Amino acid sequence: MYNINILSNQIKNAEYRLKLYQWKYFINGNIENLIKEKKKTLINFNNERILIFVKEKKENEVNKINKIRYDYIYRFLLNYNGNIEKIIELENLSDYLIKNRKILDKKILEKKYKELILLRNAFARSIGFNNYLEYKYFVFGINNSDVDNNIKFFSNNYIKNINYLSYKECVEKLKKYTENILKKNKQLNYILKFLDKINFRLKNIKLNIKQSEHKKSAGSTIDLSIPKKILLNINLNDGIGYFLIFMHEIGHALYFSNIRQKYYEIKKTLNSIFDEGIALFFEKITVSKDFMTNILELDYISCDEIFYLKNNLLLTCVLFENDIYSERLNDNLDEVWGKYASKYYVNELSHWSKEHFFFSEPGYHYPYLLGSFLADSLSTYFKKNNISLISKEMGQFLNNKIFKKGSLLNQNDFFNEILFLR
Ligand SMILES: [Zn+2]
Repeated sequence: MYNINILSNQIKNAEYRLKLYQWKYFINGNIENLIKEKKKTLINFNNERILIFVKEKKENEVNKINKIRYDYIYRFLLNYNGNIEKIIELENLSDYLIKNRKILDKKILEKKYKELILLRNAFARSIGFNNYLEYKYFVFGINNSDVDNNIKFFSNNYIKNINYLSYKECVEKLKKYTENILKKNKQLNYILKFLDKINFRLKNIKLNIKQSEHKKSAGSTIDLSIPKKILLNINLNDGIGYFLIFMHEIGHALYFSNIRQKYYEIKKTLNSIFDEGIALFFEKITVSKDFMTNILELDYISCDEIFYLKNNLLLTCVLFENDIYSERLNDNLDEVWGKYASKYYVNELSHWSKEHFFFSEPGYHYPYLLGSFLADSLSTYFKKNNISLISKEMGQFLNNKIFKKGSLLNQNDFFNEILFLR
């Protein structure tokens, strides 16, 4: 049986092996050999180890391993020689908070969260970053120096004053309207019908469908890459809430399975904005006129508001994290949160302790926010060019403009081409 510790040792060995080949490359300049070796090493992890956990349906383990693998590769790239015990302490504390944040006393949660931030920042500094957010932005393929300007731009141009009540009304209206249509036994058929129209197949994608009443983990997509394999976990249940998650994960899965990048390159320049942007675009397609009338065969009712307030929440999260990772940790977190939450009208929608990315994936709100704007811009682009959101032309655009260039697509070129059009 494999467990996390054994695996983590194996990864360490592989890291050493990769280092060796890196040196050989410096000497003989043979890049082909280096890539072959990197691939071989990574295939080892996937085929022999990770797939065992997949077979046993231990999704948590798979996620954990991916995280370890991912971090090790980064440390390798960055020539990291840090203190492994500290990393384990960091991982344990974040695991603990992910599992217990809902039942912990607020004061204790705040204290532990601040401890976690200090550990994360110490790790980031040991590999040459100013703080952990900066390191994560690097991992997400984001240029750190763009962050402040982009936030300013988006908060000035896109944030809307939407009150919580109209958001809630809109969600309720949509729920009621689609109640009888979006039963769990019909959802996969709608998705297949949609994919057929945009000319995509679920090749390389393994659907792992569960049906549990627990909302806990409603869906996730894991890229196992070599051999190209995507695992899509979905908790199938009645209602538009679950269907939106299903469509979102399908977006991730198509992105992963169609980008023309090799595993190693993907991990090196993973572009979370595009990855998340496509997932959010698929979510938005679900409530579009094209989808409602053609796929669900319903009369269209407009409910775009449901996404506006979420953008405000994402922006609040980004600003909150930027503040606290700069180690203004003497501040009361409720006050830091409240400052932004009231400015962007999300006081009633959420609270920092409810946002799981703060604990599980710091820094992720930023690519999420930009992904959301990317998704909006895609919708606008298709509308302006009279392209239906459920047509082969739309699929072709995704395939040629986004997937073909994969994660290496130049962010600025792409933004110039289609962003800010609305
Ligand atoms: Zn997502």
